[in-house]
Amino acid sequence: MTRTPEPRESTAMDFTFTPDEERFRLELRQWLSDHLPPGWGKPGYQYPKTYEDGAAVRRQWDRALHAGGYAGLSWPRAYGGRGATLIEQVIYFEEIARSRAPEELNRAAKLLLGPTIIHHGTEEQKRRFLPRILSADDVWCQGFSEPNAGSDLASLATRAVLDGDELVVNGQKIWTSNATVADWIFMLVRTDTSAPKHQGITFLLADMRSSGITIRPIVQMTGSGEFCETFFDNVRVPLANVLGGLNAGWGVTATALSHERGTLAFHRHAMIRVELDELIDLARRLRRGGRPVIDDPMVRQRLAQCHSELELLRWTLCRNLTRQIQGEPAGAEGSIVKLYWSELYQRITELALDVLGPASQIADGPLAEEGGRWQFRFLKSRGDSIHSGTNQIQRNIIGERLLGLPR
Ligand SMILES: Cc1cc2nc3c(=O)[nH]c(=O)nc-3n(C[C@H](O)[C@H](O)[C@H](O)COP(=O)(O)OP(=O)(O)OC[C@H]3O[C@@H](n4cnc5c(N)ncnc54)[C@H](O)[C@@H]3O)c2cc1C
Repeated sequence: MTRTPEPRESTAMDFTFTPDEERFRLELRQWLSDHLPPGWGKPGYQYPKTYEDGAAVRRQWDRALHAGGYAGLSWPRAYGGRGATLIEQVIYFEEIARSRAPEELNRAAKLLLGPTIIHHGTEEQKRRFLPRILSADDVWCQGFSEPNAGSDLASLATRAVLDGDELVVNGQKIWTSNATVADWIFMLVRTDTSAPKHQGITFLLADMRSSGITIRPIVQMTGSGEFCETFFDNVRVPLANVLGGLNAGWGVTATALSHERGTLAFHRHAMIRVELDELIDLARRLRRGGRPVIDDPMVRQRLAQCHSELELLRWTLCRNLTRQIQGEPAGAEGSIVKLYWSELYQRITELALDVLGPASQIADGPLAEEGGRWQFRFLKSRGDSIHSGTNQIQRNIIGERLLGLPR
């Protein structure tokens, strides 16, 4: 993580932190231990059972982070953020994961939407939306995917037609995470059907309480209903809520998605580290055939493999970070990271079920080992190879842009 630009061939990574960075880490660690919601922060803690109860805790947590000065870390101070360096952002994500804090409910707005409004928004939009994102007074959801537009997002068909100083929206979004608890949605709509498909799209900010919006939760195999189908039936949205201009939405989307990865992958890495340590501890405690499960050479081998791969992930992240600090764009290498952590995490949760053995078949009730959390993680991890660009799409990007293979 060197701070001095050098030619790439001779780039060495410096893993020491400056005294200011160490101070930031210690202050945050102390703040977290003082402010975590009651009961959180311990491996055995049972998270709220329903999605809505969990979301309420997470919104409160967003508010606490804001009050503590830890919301909008990367945002400029002029917009209420902390103006943190990339290294401070990494430290933040590592400490948040290490402390087992709740996941921020408004993370998509803080990471994707806020920086996009700062880049493309009018002064009025900045004044109106940015402070309420940081304080979690407005929680946002993301309305991009549609039943026939996912990987090929530009095929989206939700229409918006100009009527006076409003757009009238009709159509359907799907897989809208947090739609049932969100106050606002940032969405893509088609405003010009005659233009080439990337050019007729508009980026729109809509109030989820508008008349004509219907939300239907989709219950996943985890039992949670955090995704939704979101229907728009003659929903009227003021033109003032267009971000970046009519039919200019594709460029605005590119800005939003460029913020999707950033330093967040360090959070994933640190979360997986915490969970792998939990798994090693579980394999030590559980006994099968009169012996600790960790005595099984196959289990030891697989745990060691996961540990090594997790270390490789960290070095890859550090290499990407070094380049970003030197002013190079995150680029296609982010695809390697996404592919790697999502598949590694799936292998770890699968190993956890093998460590549990027959007990892995009971995920609920008093007989469930570890409160059923490994089963939940195993099922939830399947979505990690789909969201933020499916792993097949990541492989295409790696093949074409990094390896120079033909399209
Ligand atoms: C946990 C989770 C949260 C999500 N949250 C949101 C959200 O909040 N808002 C939102 O808008 N969306 C959200 N999504 C949706 C997500 O963005 C889409 O699922 C994703 O973009 C894939 O689109 P799709 O499901 O339509 O699959 P499709 O694009 O239809 O793909 C189907 C299959 O075909 C493969 N495929 C498609 N094109 C190619 C290609 N060119 N080459 C090789 N293989 C290909 C895909 O990899 C996949 O295996 C979420 C998804 C998940 C899993």
